[in-house]
Amino acid sequence: MTEKMKQRVVITFFAGLLGLSLVVQSCWADDFTDWLQSFRYEAERAGISRTIFTKVFDGVTEPDIRVLQRANHQPEFSLQIWEYLDTRVNALSIDRGREMARRYHKVLADIEQQSGVPASILLAIWSMETNYGLILTKKERLHYLPQALATLCWQDSKRKKFAKTQLLAALKIFAAGDVAQDDFLGSWAGAMGHTQFIPTSYLAYAVDFDGDGRRDVWNSVSDALASSANLLAKNGWRRGKTWGYEVVLVPGAKKYQGETKTLAEWQRLGVLRPGAKPFPRPGDKAVLKILADGNGPGFLMLRNFFVLKKYNNSDFYALAVGLLADRLAGWQGLVQQWPRPPHLLNFAEKMELQRLLERWGYYHGAVDGYPGKMTREAIRLFQKDKGFTVNGKADQNTLRQLRELASP
Ligand code: CA
Repeated sequence: MTEKMKQRVVITFFAGLLGLSLVVQSCWADDFTDWLQSFRYEAERAGISRTIFTKVFDGVTEPDIRVLQRANHQPEFSLQIWEYLDTRVNALSIDRGREMARRYHKVLADIEQQSGVPASILLAIWSMETNYGLILTKKERLHYLPQALATLCWQDSKRKKFAKTQLLAALKIFAAGDVAQDDFLGSWAGAMGHTQFIPTSYLAYAVDFDGDGRRDVWNSVSDALASSANLLAKNGWRRGKTWGYEVVLVPGAKKYQGETKTLAEWQRLGVLRPGAKPFPRPGDKAVLKILADGNGPGFLMLRNFFVLKKYNNSDFYALAVGLLADRLAGWQGLVQQWPRPPHLLNFAEKMELQRLLERWGYYHGAVDGYPGKMTREAIRLFQKDKGFTVNGKADQNTLRQLRELASP
């Protein structure tokens, strides 16, 4: 085959692929709108009028492909607890939380008074869910909620049932007039507004705290925070109590993992707070949690920890909320260290690494403590430039080399 023939074959092949993908796309759109038409009857049976249905899906002619991409994305590896906490409880989230505590001081105090949920807990949830609302300003990362949920209903077999329940709830929210079509945005999986309520939680717990007649978790910080407080209060939050205590894992403690005893009983078994600080209410019941295979800190979790899990059913999540809330309330962080492998960087060190790369002209991205592709590329440039082994790794070795460059 001549070069020219080869080129022609390649071009024909790609043109074929392109044509095929256009055909697939238009089939998808047809199939999706057919599904939507049939779903209209189901919505009607659930009490959604034809007018509301038509209004909600006005202009929606195809599925939201980005939703399916995100639904099918499998994380490459699971995070260790300290990696998870580093990205959520750090200098940035604490500083911004303190700023928000000042800005929303009055409303937070009012919500706390009514619900019994501390301001620090609400701020921590707001941080975890949308970085204090910052994510909502990045409209390109949001989805038109009814379209996103309809896409999941139509295609995602794993989430079909969940998505259908949420879509019907979303239609009820729209019918109640709480949200304008332009504002009806959410995550790919249906979480909405500042504190990321899914539609069924919204229907059950959202409140109009600022008194404008709408439960606006999208635009009103007061409504969003009060709605979160209401969710926690209705699920049994205990006023005036904390979420849990850091404890020292004595040898043999591991066998009690997951057991419930009073704090006094735990104390008798030798499960103590660092420095043997006394438990303020020894009669409270607590569950022993071990999150790093018996190394690093252990925890005695009280009722409120399990209430936090009603928000997101993950130990990592509830612990991050609790620890961030403690810092925002002016208490200290963990006393004991996690069993962090020695070559890994913590959050502050990742920031320092990026700052040094920036200072020496290798890096022009954000100094945010999240070394991604741009940071790795900058490290490669630096390593090549200085004659070091080129691996692009954001680790202790690279940080040391960068620090040495700075010292005379
Ligand atoms: Ca309102």
